[in-house]
Amino acid sequence: MSIRDIDTIKIGTVRYRVIHQKPSQEGVEENKIIVGCIKYEYGEIWTNNESPDDVCANTLMHEVVHGLFNHSGQYQSSEEQIESFATILGLFIRENPKLIEAIQKIK
Ligand SMILES: [Zn+2]
Repeated sequence: MSIRDIDTIKIGTVRYRVIHQKPSQEGVEENKIIVGCIKYEYGEIWTNNESPDDVCANTLMHEVVHGLFNHSGQYQSSEEQIESFATILGLFIRENPKLIEAIQKIK
């Protein structure tokens, strides 16, 4: 399975549709192309499909952490907090597959 095969992600009670697509003009802010975003009102997470796989995975983790924080009522997090937490969470998931598997089996 590739990161681009991920088409839905559930955060809390909301199942987000994951859209891997080239950003439109509205995806450009201050002349910087946005590599991803989460649209709470539409239940969508966007990634730039022109990014390499590792960038796409990091983008997805970043947007998921936005969602996790938002769904847990923490709306004041800075981009720096989101990015650093997304980085350590991604590493944690990669380095602890047995823990992730055990948690998934709990009913
Ligand atoms: Zn962000």
